[in-house]
Amino acid sequence: MYDFIIIGGGIVGMSTAMQLMQVYPDAKVLLLEKESGPARHQTGHNSGVIHAGVYYTPGSLKARFCLEGNKATKAFCNKHGIRFDECGKLLVATNELEMERMKALWERTAANGLERHWLSAAELREREPNIVGLGGIFVPSSGIVSYAEVTAAMGREFQAAGGEIRYSAEVVGLDERVDQVIVRAAGDEFRARYLITCSGLMADRVVRMLGLEPSFIICPFRGEYYLLPRQHNQIVNHLIYPIPDPSMPFLGVHLTRMIDGTVTVGPNAVLAMKREGYRKSDISLSDMVETLTSPGILKVLAKNLRPGLIEMKNSLFKGGYLKEVQKYCPSITKADLTPYPAGVRAQAVSREGKLIDDFLFVNTPRSVNVCNAPSPAATSAIPIGAHIVDKVREQIAATGGNFAPKAIDNKQRAAG
Ligand SMILES: Cc1cc2nc3c(=O)[nH]c(=O)nc-3n(C[C@H](O)[C@H](O)[C@H](O)COP(=O)(O)OP(=O)(O)OC[C@H]3O[C@@H](n4cnc5c(N)ncnc54)[C@H](O)[C@@H]3O)c2cc1C
Repeated sequence: MYDFIIIGGGIVGMSTAMQLMQVYPDAKVLLLEKESGPARHQTGHNSGVIHAGVYYTPGSLKARFCLEGNKATKAFCNKHGIRFDECGKLLVATNELEMERMKALWERTAANGLERHWLSAAELREREPNIVGLGGIFVPSSGIVSYAEVTAAMGREFQAAGGEIRYSAEVVGLDERVDQVIVRAAGDEFRARYLITCSGLMADRVVRMLGLEPSFIICPFRGEYYLLPRQHNQIVNHLIYPIPDPSMPFLGVHLTRMIDGTVTVGPNAVLAMKREGYRKSDISLSDMVETLTSPGILKVLAKNLRPGLIEMKNSLFKGGYLKEVQKYCPSITKADLTPYPAGVRAQAVSREGKLIDDFLFVNTPRSVNVCNAPSPAATSAIPIGAHIVDKVREQIAATGGNFAPKAIDNKQRAAG
């Protein structure tokens, strides 16, 4: 019998596993991951940005965890010798409407407690000679890292503390009883006092295995990138972001310096035809039927028909995609957009047809389930893990468990 079983070897599952061992060093903990290694889905297919917390509604979990996560991720990297670059980010307004929206973002960044600097067009040009705009906001604390590397280090930390990881172990059945949870995976049956699920694109399906009828469905959105040729590795000094349309859920195509020195353009946001489909040609009929018969998703698609169609057109024809980036970086040409692997976002959608904005957890007496952890959940993985450990601690108290947590504070926990 395990004390805790965790499902999911992405950054959220691995961060939680690492912190559980720090708080309950004598516990028997197992992490089950269906792939043959860590970070094979969202965590290994993203922009690698350590977000600062610009966009999120003040007071939301996203705003709080992102701010904490930005510092905690850098501290973790420093402690574990993982390369990161605090290169800062520039939000660039290219027309009057975006200037108006930028003023609203300026207020929001103040409410979120961020250091930021307002740039005139001339100051923008001085910082970024290849970028054009009427003005910008400079946020110095944004950075870049490889989240796959961070996750692998968390996994090593977890194992060094006595945690067990089984890869190629897909969980196919769950049964929550009064005193334990039975987990079926890889032809085996495992028992645990408590279960934590961090299953990303499969969050709704895993929750359903527990016998719950979730009030949301995961909608998979592909995020497609291009890579700029090496001669453009110095085209920008910072991360360059457009001013987002507040009615849209994603941040818009940006120029991202990657930690390996290259620069990517993207990602866009198009409905994926397969939950874990990374190539355009990846199609799953059953996934598509599930997506396209969900009343919530149909409402989202109907509400966003025009921008959705534009995203699809830009996905199929490079010309449209190029225009998005040329708005602020005119020197990039079509030939500069070379292939790069896509990612697929797990975005929870409510039955009423709302894209669920904040992080979402659904709990039962013996389980904590992460049901919506979109961007910036990689940045926020350490505080999300700490939050989950706190929830588990409450469950242990409520169910009369007999674990004594080690007396350590959150700061110690975060650095790992
Ligand atoms: C295109 C894109 C760009 C992004 N950019 C950023 C960024 O720059 N900065 C940022 O902070 N965030 C970014 N994000 C968001 C970030 O990547 C995710 O929020 C984060 O990785 C979520 O981590 P996770 O552990 O919840 O999910 P995942 O990494 O998807 O991990 C879930 C794991 O659960 C496993 N699993 C699922 N079902 C089962 C089962 N039944 N049995 C066993 N295992 C199972 C999966 O195999 C997977 O490994 C981006 C995301 C995308 C897609």
